[in-house]
Amino acid sequence: MRRPTKYCKNIECEEPITDYKSSKKLYCSESCRNRNGYLRRLEENKEFIENDKGQKQNYTVLNRYAEAGIYSEDLSKLIKFGFQPKQLLVSRFFNIDGRECHCYTIKDIVFEIDSITKKIIIHKSKHK
Ligand SMILES: [Zn+2]
Repeated sequence: MRRPTKYCKNIECEEPITDYKSSKKLYCSESCRNRNGYLRRLEENKEFIENDKGQKQNYTVLNRYAEAGIYSEDLSKLIKFGFQPKQLLVSRFFNIDGRECHCYTIKDIVFEIDSITKKIIIHKSKHK
């Protein structure tokens, strides 16, 4: 008896599976099965991956400033260089020169965003 034609579940392939022994077979090949798993995990972790990229990008921009010895700059200027404020994780309080301030940390860089002047102020960095 002929079995109905199945199609590979890998959305990048969808080739008909002509020769299958088990009716449970979903993919035309092992590589399609792996590829589909990879794509599914990528989709499931989209927000984490995006946030991770954002953090790296933010660090790169901040580190470039710190390296150049510039510890205060307009937020709008940093955004032009790729800084993404929406990817910042939770801030916490730091004691900076006796003042409690709301700071973000990415790796070795501790910085704050002054809500009045809209400036980013780098308080700590491996370059400072
Ligand atoms: Zn396939």
